Formats: sequence, C-alpha cells, structure tokens
Amino acid sequence: MKNVLNKTFGLKSFKPGQKEIIQSVIDGEDVFVVMPTGSGKSLCYQLPAIIREGLTVVISPLIALMMSQVLYLKKLGINCGALTSSSSPEEVSEILNNLSQKTLKILYIAPERLSKASTIKMLKTGNINLIAVDEAHCVSQWGHDFRPSYLLIGNLRKRLNVPLVALTATAGPKTKIEIVKQLFKNNNPKSFSYGYDRPNIFMSFQLKNSPRAQILNFVTQNKRTSGIVYCGTRAKTETIANALNEIGCSALAYHAGLEPSARRNVEALFSSKDNLIIVATIAFGMGLDKSDIRWIAHADLPQSIENYYQEIGRAGRDGKPAISLTLYSQEDIDFRRQQINEGSAIEVRKDLNHQRLNYIIGLADEIDCRRKNLLGYFGEDNVSCGNCDLCKDPKNTFEASKSIQKILKCIILTNEKYSITDIINLLTGQLTDKIKENNGQKSKFFGTGKEFNDHQWLSIIRQMMGKDLIRPSIQGVNSITLTSQGNVFLTNKHPINFNLDSFHKVSKKSTIRTLIYGDDQALLSKLKAHCRKLAESSNIPSHFIFRETTLIEMAIKKPKNIDEFFMIRGVGPKKLEKFSTSFLNIINVSPADPLHPARRKLIGGTSACIYDQLIEIQSKLAYGRDGHQKKITCSPSIIAKISKLINPTQVVINNILGKKKALRFGKAFFKILKDF
Ligand code: ADP
Ligand code: MG
Ligand code: ZN
Repeated sequence: MKNVLNKTFGLKSFKPGQKEIIQSVIDGEDVFVVMPTGSGKSLCYQLPAIIREGLTVVISPLIALMMSQVLYLKKLGINCGALTSSSSPEEVSEILNNLSQKTLKILYIAPERLSKASTIKMLKTGNINLIAVDEAHCVSQWGHDFRPSYLLIGNLRKRLNVPLVALTATAGPKTKIEIVKQLFKNNNPKSFSYGYDRPNIFMSFQLKNSPRAQILNFVTQNKRTSGIVYCGTRAKTETIANALNEIGCSALAYHAGLEPSARRNVEALFSSKDNLIIVATIAFGMGLDKSDIRWIAHADLPQSIENYYQEIGRAGRDGKPAISLTLYSQEDIDFRRQQINEGSAIEVRKDLNHQRLNYIIGLADEIDCRRKNLLGYFGEDNVSCGNCDLCKDPKNTFEASKSIQKILKCIILTNEKYSITDIINLLTGQLTDKIKENNGQKSKFFGTGKEFNDHQWLSIIRQMMGKDLIRPSIQGVNSITLTSQGNVFLTNKHPINFNLDSFHKVSKKSTIRTLIYGDDQALLSKLKAHCRKLAESSNIPSHFIFRETTLIEMAIKKPKNIDEFFMIRGVGPKKLEKFSTSFLNIINVSPADPLHPARRKLIGGTSACIYDQLIEIQSKLAYGRDGHQKKITCSPSIIAKISKLINPTQVVINNILGKKKALRFGKAFFKILKDF
C-alpha cells in the first residue's frame, strides 16, 4: 500500500482514515465511507484498484468530475477510461478493446449508462473485481441530490457479484439507511465515518435588509481572495457578478444555463487565478479541487442543511481560516416552499423537503451556536466552537413557550385550514374576509395576541418552523399543520428561547443606515461635514459634491488610495481629480502617498494593479535575490510601460528593461504579467 502511495501516486503519507479504509477495500469487503469533502475519498478506491487484480468500475455523477479524474490518473500512468453520454464511438471502441485485453484498471461510468443492457453485457466481458460508487448520497430519495439512475447500481452489483465501496461527504441518518438499502441490499457493509467538523470555517447568518449592500460589503471585506457567492436563481448570478465587477472585484457568473465550454472556461479560470470570484447557482463546485478558497457567501438561503454544509465546505480546505456568510429572509423561505410545492415529487417527499427546509431555517434562527446545530444534524454531539457569529456575539432572546402554545392551539382550533397570515390576523384581531367566512371573530383566540405585531408573530412562526414544530401542509393550500413534535409540545410545553433580535422590523428605507455603526458612523459625520464645507464655499448644494449613499459607501469601505476611491459608486473621473485628496485624507488620517503621474494615468484599469505588483516585487529584488547587491530600480515610466503590455513576452520585457535591469527583474516581472 505504502509503496503504491509513494511511487504511483507520488504522495508521502495517508490522510486520516485512508489507510484503514483502503485495507478493507483491498481485502474485498463491502465498505461504506462517510468523510468530509476534501479528505481524500477518491484514493480509497483508486489505490485498491491498482493493487487488486482486474478492473474497478467507478460510478460518478458528473462528467466533468470523471474527466478530470481520468486525466489525473492517466498522468500517473494508470490505464483508465470513462464511458459517458458524450463518449465518441472511437473512445467506446478503444475501451472495449482494453476491456477484452484485460489491461484496463479503472473505468468511470456515468450512471445513466447502466440503463443500457449493452453496457452491462460489455462490463461482463471485462474482469471486474470492484465497484466504487462516488457521491453515493445520490442514490437516496431523501438526500438533496437524488439521481434516479443511481438506483440501477444495485442491479449492476447483483449481476457482477463483486464487492462494492460507497463514498459520500454528506449523509444524514436517513440517507445512510437508504444507501445501505439500495447499494448493499441491507447487507451491512463495513462503515467508516469521520468527523464533519471544519473548525477553521467561520459560520454566520444575517437577515436580509439590504441584500446587495450586505453581499458587496462582505466581499469587499475579503478583497483579494478567492470566494464563491451562491445565488438562488440564474438571473441573480449575472446581476451580482456585474455589481461586483463595478466595484472593482473580478467576478464571473456560473450556472447550468451556460454552454458547457463556457462553464469549463470559468472552472479553469477559477482554479488558476488567485482572487477571482465566482457567482454561481448550486451547479458550481461539486468535486472542485481548490484548497485556498477563503470565503463563501450565500445571497439566498440554501435549500437544505446538506446543501449548506457542502457549499461552505468548499472554503478553507487548506485548513487556514475561512469565512462564510448566509443571508436569509421570509421571501427566501416562501420561494423555497413554493419550489417544493410546485415540484413533481410525491407527497411524502414534499413533506420531507419541507422538513429539511425547516432544519435550515432552524440553523438560520439558531441562538446558541451554529456549529453545534449543524453537527448535531449530522449526529455529532460534543462540539466545541467559538468560531461562529453566535459564539462571538450572542443574540438577545426571550422565553417563547407560551406564545408557541398559543399558535399551536390556534392552528388546531381552525382545523389546520388557516394560512400563516390568517393565524396572525386572527391573533391580532383583524377582521378579514377569510376570518369572517369562518366566523373567526367568535373564536376565543380572536384578538388575544395583541402583545406582538404582525412582524413579530411572523418571526415566532418562522422560528417554530425552525424547530420543526409546524410545517406547510401538503394537501391544503397555504395552510400549516402540526408535526408530531408540535403535537408533543402542545400537551407538554417546556421552556424554549427564541431570538428576539429578529423582532425588529427592518424597514427598507433605513436599510443602508442600519449597516453603518460605530467608527463608520463617526467617519460618515466627518465626511458629511467636509462635503458641506466644500459645498458652501462654492455655493452649491452639498449633494452636488457627493450623494449621501456615496459618502456611506466611503465610510464603510474606507478606500486607502486613489484606485479604491475610484471604485466607490458616484465617483467619476472629474470628482476623482477634484476631491479625492481631501476625502482620502479624512478617511486615512495619515495622508496617502501622492501618486507618480505615470501611475496616475493607469487608474481604473487592470494595468494599475499590475503596476503595483511590479513595484512591490521590485522593492523586494532591489538589492538582488540575496539582498547584498548594488541597488537597482526602474523608473516609474518604465514600470508603467511594462504594465501596459498587451502580449507580454520575456524578450519584449527584457528589451524595455535593458541588460542590467533585465538580469535582476526580467523573470519576476514576466511572471507577474503572465499570471495576471
Ligand atoms: P474528496 O473526494 O474526499 O472530496 P478528493 O479525493 O478529491 O477528496 O481529494 C482531495 C485532495 O486531497 C486531492 O487534491 C487529492 O489529491 C488530495 N489527497 C488525497 N489523499 C492524499 C494524501 N494521502 N496525501 C496528500 N494529498 C492527498
Ligand atoms: Mg470526491
Ligand atoms: Zn459557535
């Protein structure tokens, strides 16, 4: 094992768990592996495939994933191939050839292929010795990523009668049972389960108040690092990507509606560039192998905890600190509910999807610790955290059991026929048509809930869903129903704390202002005062200088230099010229270095960024690589000239630099331009 690890795969040592798993697979046992994303599951079937005689068949859900694995294995000199819907006849016949000569070691197959009788017949001609099922949760109807064709695997296994190894990163208790049933026909496999905790990822949630500003703010705080923004709709990926580009963060949209080639292109760029942002629907990220993603933002509430976990789990695989922010709102929840209701799933499954949505709402409205909640969902207790927004900054809470019971009783009394709005209207004593229709004004609950307003009741109901006490009922239109837990609570109430902070209605008008507090607020006052002074001296209204929204953005983002100042919305070239210095001086108490005119001309373009990188590396190399040589520097105009090169080559750069400088800086400069 160790030998193959070192020689064939070029890896030094096993990651935690790999050795034990690989040993069991080599021994021919049925194996079920649950390990977090990035923990090295692929090796758990690839290495045994090399050591065992014959061929290993791997079922994997995404063509892109298969292709990158095949490429990687071929580079290692392993005879392997892939059969997908996009395999050409030549590729298929080459695989057939290899099969009959029994030289193939690993064959990736798309699950859809298994529906063809010819595929199974063909596989029987090969000397198949092991089946590996990657992303095995796709077999579970209760999972978040069900692929019907995964159900064909059970049959394949029966026909071939060989050991099977199933691997996944996300399987709750229900999904686990389903995997054992479908893939192992309930013959208990040897199971390996490793921790879900990713302690380096900071978890945080925020109610939406000004969603775009919240996202842009979060991204600017994490500037110059790679990250992903997940959105609920394709259209939104485009608008957010545009907004990010406008404020000077390079961002690309990614969704299933793009041409495959365009998608490959975005994936490749993301892997190779250092601070690119991808704005994506859930279509992006499965099997992504980039270890230095520093942050994940959800512009909309994910549809389940499994989705959430997988998505934030793409950050910080290198173990260094990473940060995540998830936005949510009542509208998001309504949107997800609607998706579920309008979907084609059978009723039982719809009900389960509502339950799963409830759990993510519960995570969003958690008051104790996000990590405890999340890992608790996957069956882990004994969690220590200190790295989530709640551990850092506890919420205000109130004891809600009485209010909860009031709602539950109300739902029962109205025979589970009322919608959330109806229930709230009943409690707050609004005589609506629906209530009149049902003689609700005569009910003993009518008007008994005036201690809270509509918005506050809505928050309580949402938090009740988060505890899975109630769910939308599948039969009724818009009505809600008690879960078994809700029924228990009705008769057996116990103290329970709810989040009080979400009680404050976020009014749309004050949204931007709510985002600004503390030092930012003080800075904003100074900027406003300066603005007024300038306006008075030229006898114009002060919003002719800068609008308030522009000043707020300045106060939050605190541009450090003229480039960053130019990225603030509302700052055009003219205003930049006139006002940047005085405003920058207020923002950065110590004034910014005056820019060289050659550098000034580059403002607003990518060359500015290259210029700064060139200057930085120049100062590192000024005394040579060892730091003991005679100092050399290039003039700003030379640096500017190089930073503007459209097709940079080493020769061109060296020519501009001249012999001596080329010797010291040429290579480093070229590298910066090439990588950009
Ligand atoms: P998973 O499928 O569990 O998400 P992968 O199999 O894709 O993880 O592996 C993640 C990364 O870890 C890959 O880049 C892989 O090459 C690397 N890796 C796997 N095993 C080892 C090991 N023993 N030592 C070093 N790197 C490893
Ligand atoms: Mg994997
Ligand atoms: Zn915590």
